[in-house]
Amino acid sequence: MAEAKTTLEIVADHRISRDASAPLTYPFAPPTDYGEMVEVADGILWFRMPLPFSLEHINLYLLKDGDGWVIVDSGLSTSMVKDLWRKILKDTLKGAKITKIIITHYHPDHMGLAGWLHAETGAPIHMTALEMLTGRTLKSEGSHEVPDEVVSFYSRAGFDDEQISFLKNMGYGNFSKVVSDLPVGYVRMRGGDEIKIGSRSFKILIGSGHSPEHACLYCTGEKILISGDQILPKITSNVSVYATEPLANPLANWLDSLKMLSQLDEDVLVLPAHNEVFLGLHKRVDEIAQSHFRRLRSVMELCATPKTGVEAFGALFKRKLKGFDMIMGLGESLAHLHYLEKLGVVARDESGDMTKFKAVGTFDKNTL
Ligand SMILES: [Zn+2]
Repeated sequence: MAEAKTTLEIVADHRISRDASAPLTYPFAPPTDYGEMVEVADGILWFRMPLPFSLEHINLYLLKDGDGWVIVDSGLSTSMVKDLWRKILKDTLKGAKITKIIITHYHPDHMGLAGWLHAETGAPIHMTALEMLTGRTLKSEGSHEVPDEVVSFYSRAGFDDEQISFLKNMGYGNFSKVVSDLPVGYVRMRGGDEIKIGSRSFKILIGSGHSPEHACLYCTGEKILISGDQILPKITSNVSVYATEPLANPLANWLDSLKMLSQLDEDVLVLPAHNEVFLGLHKRVDEIAQSHFRRLRSVMELCATPKTGVEAFGALFKRKLKGFDMIMGLGESLAHLHYLEKLGVVARDESGDMTKFKAVGTFDKNTL
């Protein structure tokens, strides 16, 4: 068995630096309307579907597969997105066969219409097991009152009465409202699998930290990476701790995954699920890893005196958060605190009404 890594070795591993010189560039003008196609490589079409959030679109892709097409990610289950899909299937693809529906991860903007598209086209859904099982579980739980356990998770992390009532009013299990019914069966994808699509072969690369077993599709021959939410050029994917796994350390998984992506060539064309298709993978990996390390340093300094997850916001966000942003913000804050806790440089104190974290030990902050 390999020897356990020391704290410094773990951090050194996560301090990714590829000395990337190439800046990020965006070789294609994005689609100007929902459902409009932009060909980014021979037989690979990029288009967008609407999202009712501040992030107003998701990028989806169609890959030519012989006489048919493969769909990558599906969009949220709303009547508007279904109408756009009907138009694409009939007018753009002229009723051609859909051979596969590949879903990168279970989040509703990606998995939302997988079941509906399967019912419409008969194509099998391809997903990794953890993503399918997580999505299927959330779908079958349905929506209901927020469980006491969840309320306790947020109040112990520092939510005040107003934030707790926002949480309760929001309800629990809203996932099931924006994800269509799933078929019983699916095709399981595993890391390292090779999937043949037309003349191309795509290798399945697995990332984690944003979701449990996120699939990216990498075409080695042409250096094309369909990255889902595993790397985005302009925004950072949410890396969060939730009540469903309150002791999780997703930031370690996320940094491991960035490291994995940094092993690919610098001139890979990246097809992300949000923002624009881009070049400059190494540069972007560096930027994201460094931003997490900056935040880890700030959290560490702030925790010179004990802090709750909410009190650590000051080290992470410039603006004051409210509403749903509080939930996302807390998840991010705990992700950074848990990373430091697992390194042994921050300790948790559960003795009071709230969980507090305090910087401990003699860890040299300059190495973080
Ligand atoms: Zn996502």
